[in-house]
Amino acid sequence: MTQPFIVFGRPDIQEPEIEEVVAVLRSGWIGTGPRVAEFERRFAKYVGAGDALAVNSCTAALHLALLCHGVGPDDEVITTPMTFASSANVIVHTGATPVFVDVDPRTGLLSAPGIAAAITSKTRAIVTVDYHGRPCNYGPILELADRHGIAVIEDAAHATEAWWHGRKVGSIAHATAFSFYATKNLTTGEGGMLVARDPAVLARARRLSLHGLSADAWARYTSTGRARYEVLEAGFKYNLTDIAAAIGLHQLERLDANLEIRERLSMAFDERLTGVPGIHISPPVDPADRHARHLYPVLVDDPGRREDLIDHLKSRGVGAGIHFTALHLHPFYRDRFGFREGEFPGAEWIGARTVSLPFYPTLTASEIDRITDAVREFFS
Ligand SMILES: *Cc1c(COP(=O)(O)O)cnc(C)c1O
Repeated sequence: MTQPFIVFGRPDIQEPEIEEVVAVLRSGWIGTGPRVAEFERRFAKYVGAGDALAVNSCTAALHLALLCHGVGPDDEVITTPMTFASSANVIVHTGATPVFVDVDPRTGLLSAPGIAAAITSKTRAIVTVDYHGRPCNYGPILELADRHGIAVIEDAAHATEAWWHGRKVGSIAHATAFSFYATKNLTTGEGGMLVARDPAVLARARRLSLHGLSADAWARYTSTGRARYEVLEAGFKYNLTDIAAAIGLHQLERLDANLEIRERLSMAFDERLTGVPGIHISPPVDPADRHARHLYPVLVDDPGRREDLIDHLKSRGVGAGIHFTALHLHPFYRDRFGFREGEFPGAEWIGARTVSLPFYPTLTASEIDRITDAVREFFS
């Protein structure tokens, strides 16, 4: 008898968000409205920020953060090649040039010395990525950025719950972008959030997120609002809906309880996979930090066996993902910027070897056994 397939990602959707979405649909107010405002208020409190802007993706939040920190044509923005496409695509959208800096092959994170060597007179910002949910070491990175007068924009798509040295992600960098995509730790189907140190940055981002309309346009979404507004600049269509915020409000309530489950799951996977010949698991997290445990990756020692491992997992009814193929090796980045294999050996090392296993709070004990047994069986 074949057992049910363990999909790579499975959102934790429960009755409270289902009921809240139904309530939104019945309310007659499905666009940006009171639930978005409430979600922003509660999210800002959760991350320790004064205010937050809800948008329809983390990609949108990153794009706005770059624009509102003055990034444009002729600028350079430093980022990591060990990330999802959007961290660097948004740099291209501003007209600036992405400058990749290699990562530590053990953690997949950027660090200050590598960044320092890439700073030029054109560098305007650094987009850091808290890969898998592990925060970068922000002390030296912020010090470096302050010395050069450039902004640190944190892609926290994996790291909503994370802390660095006792400071909540969202209260560290100049701006922080979060993702509520379907597989992320907090999901609204599609969605994102931006927080920023400077209230003026967030105010401009808010305006740009709704076509560049004047504040009265937002008041259209309240019962007392007026219909008149002005276009102040050519903005974007990045606002979140109340339908999505209704899901987010309840996901946020369960986020820390789910992180405790993720931490236990991570320990269970570590126990079963430590010492398995042919793979390596992630190094422990700095005790001063909190890892958001978004993904559970293993690194296959022999990159030639990775596809076979993924096929073997599939034959045992276990899904898998790859996070990520090093971004500079994708056709667009090779063709447009001339990147070549061998330029960023740390990212390429991970990119050729990493496999993400199914990892989410609704995994059952028998599913954990099936996943880890399938990995052990392949290497035995
Ligand atoms: C998911 C992800 C994003 C993009 O998030 P969206 O909400 O889908 O735009 C950006 N960066 C990283 C590292 C991601 O994993």
